[in-house]
Amino acid sequence: MRNRAVLLRQRPIAGIDDQTFELDTRDSPDLRDGDIRVEVKYISLDPAMRPWVHDKPNYLPPVEIGAVMRAGGAGIVTASKHDDFEVGDAVQGMFGAQSIYVGPAAVATKIDTSIAPMEAYLGGLGGTGLAAYFGLLKVGDLRKDDKVLISAAAGAVGHIAVQIAKLKGAYVVGIAGGEAKCRNVVETFGADACIDYKSESVADRLPDLFEGGIDLYFDNVGGEILEAALDHLAMRARIVVSGAIGQYDHLDEVHAPRNYLNLIGPGARMQGLLNMHWAKHFPAARKELAAWHADGRIQFHRQIEDGIETFPQVLQMLFAGKNTGKLMLKV
Ligand code: NAP
Repeated sequence: MRNRAVLLRQRPIAGIDDQTFELDTRDSPDLRDGDIRVEVKYISLDPAMRPWVHDKPNYLPPVEIGAVMRAGGAGIVTASKHDDFEVGDAVQGMFGAQSIYVGPAAVATKIDTSIAPMEAYLGGLGGTGLAAYFGLLKVGDLRKDDKVLISAAAGAVGHIAVQIAKLKGAYVVGIAGGEAKCRNVVETFGADACIDYKSESVADRLPDLFEGGIDLYFDNVGGEILEAALDHLAMRARIVVSGAIGQYDHLDEVHAPRNYLNLIGPGARMQGLLNMHWAKHFPAARKELAAWHADGRIQFHRQIEDGIETFPQVLQMLFAGKNTGKLMLKV
């Protein structure tokens, strides 16, 4: 059985480019006891892939040169030497950027495709939906009268965060790049307003949009936008550090917030989010997200590109802002 795999060819010096990865075709190995074989149908594209190919560990060790690129995916079990999995089971897990996964079953979780299609388990019911859920409700301690700011608001995490914050009753302002994305953030995902950071100054817009300051900032981008939020905090504000896509290309010289001392006056806090820390609560969170989705209170927007051979170009779309909702590849 031939496996098509995306391998890390070289570490990018600046951004990921067409030379970062190479496609390899190889026989997939035989199964050992405890293994499953998965025909991968969808591969998730994530900004964290940039830190994963950096030469220093961040929250996970670097992907080795020549190794299959780390990636989440969803697919169907086609062979099993593990008692918990049967041929035909739909599963999601860290299967790598490849068409066939063979390895320990421990990386896989069974998914129920009668609740939502397989691809939803990479988006609204996957890592990005869960990051929005736990980031707002646990780390951010969202309250119904909060005034909430969310960056990368048209993206995979952002558009779910906007919708959850709205259904909980909060006032929500998104930040996104471009007029069309901003229109989506307001008209499709329901935010009260959106700042187009590519044509407007976020710092100039915040005083008008947040009288009394920001109660909760869900930060997906870092850098100057984080500084603008820090300059405009309400009492007891919370900043959820979900990620910093604007910083991932220069991880050794991250733009530190020059004004973090602004946390002191309002007794504000800034806290990291890693959804894996909430893993034991995933089933309950998925159930709630699926129920909101089923009754039309939130939508899972996704952008599906075609073909594993396009992996390097599709991944670059995240950094160029060429996606709305969850970006994934159909293998
Ligand atoms: P995404 O938002 O779907 O895609 C990334 C978006 O970021 C792009 O569409 C682009 O939108 C924006 N962007 C790109 N470069 C930017 C820059 N230099 N400055 C400002 N915005 C920029 O990606 P995602 O998967 O939802 O991830 C969003 C963030 O959440 C990332 O920081 C990621 O690392 C983080 N995350 C965290 C967890 C966790 O557990 N902590 C889990 C998943 C993701 P515009 O067109 O609007 O610029």
